[in-house]
Amino acid sequence: MRRHNLAAVIGHVHRSGPTSRAELTQTLGLNRSTIGALVDELSARGLVAERSDRARRTPGRPSYLVTVRTDTVAVLAVVLGVDTVTVATVAPGGEILAEDHVALTTDEDRSFDRVLTTIARSCKKLAVALPHGTMVTGMGVAVPGIVRRQDGLVHFAPNLGWRDVPLGARLRTRMRSRMGLDVPVACRNDAGLGALAEHARGIGAGVANLVYLHAEVGVGGGIVVDGALLEGAAGYGGEVGHMRVNPDGAPCRCGSRGCWETEVGEDALVALAGRRPGGRAVVEEVLRAVVAGEPSATRAVNTVARWLGIGVANLINCFNPDMVVLGGLFADVMEHAGPSVIAQMRTGLVTPAHLDVALVTPTLGRHSVLLGAAEVALEPVLSDPACLPVQDIASLR
Ligand SMILES: [Zn+2]
Repeated sequence: MRRHNLAAVIGHVHRSGPTSRAELTQTLGLNRSTIGALVDELSARGLVAERSDRARRTPGRPSYLVTVRTDTVAVLAVVLGVDTVTVATVAPGGEILAEDHVALTTDEDRSFDRVLTTIARSCKKLAVALPHGTMVTGMGVAVPGIVRRQDGLVHFAPNLGWRDVPLGARLRTRMRSRMGLDVPVACRNDAGLGALAEHARGIGAGVANLVYLHAEVGVGGGIVVDGALLEGAAGYGGEVGHMRVNPDGAPCRCGSRGCWETEVGEDALVALAGRRPGGRAVVEEVLRAVVAGEPSATRAVNTVARWLGIGVANLINCFNPDMVVLGGLFADVMEHAGPSVIAQMRTGLVTPAHLDVALVTPTLGRHSVLLGAAEVALEPVLSDPACLPVQDIASLR
């Protein structure tokens, strides 16, 4: 019970920011002395500190806020992108302490062994720069592919050219031998982590049921049901980009044909607008052409909008979310052809009640996936703060 309550207090301060004891008492439904003892224990374990709340202080009566400490515990968060590896040290509260970016320019750079070396080197550089005495307690890795939750085996990551590589196990060994750091390594699909972060501290904070979608070349998805990320039996859930929507459509990178991402991804938009694929730069050129009124570009974005509306309606019918978060290319499509998306979506919903859903864009920007990786890495400490050593025994009653 005490462990559960410790996790509830630190979890609240981690997600919501500095909170007074009175607010904790009210929000968590515990009495004042229990909250006091829990805050003292978290403080002794180095996770929180109390500071005076100058802004809200009423005359003659100092008030204190419980806030997370960012100089005692940190995790390593890694985002594997197609052309960049990003590594960061992140403290509880989602505070990014430092970031390192390494460009991947050649296929050799993207090879599994080279990427392991790149990650280990960046991690070492950032860990050495942490404030003296900071404990690194875990590592979270965002992968642009299908990842087994249990051991971080990457089943398939098309953009990196990886198939069945033991990422989690090899990273753990590498960190142990290179840095003497033996911590859990949690590897997850990048879109799932984006969903987790937007749910923890972004546009979806406090929303129990949400669908998060992010489109670039591929389409990733993360589905939060009753406050928890839907992962499925092995952690392969959420592959919404490979819903088959058009059996006569184009071949997909997964080996199938007519998957949703072949109709709504960047390549579809660019091809419909009569351009050759060329990454984000060409997508932006097409979007500028839409603004300029070029007929083929306008037709292209409206076609993608129609397929987006079809897919979103299917997901709303399946999960009945309060909110759908549309990121990456989907945010652009909403901006340039939002009414077409919504018109198509309406025709596909099974009841008018399903229309009671907010269509929004993410608010954490380029950091959403990185913060999601930090969330999974912090999870063991936040769910059981008693696993941390007591630093200040005197303050424990
Ligand atoms: Zn596919």
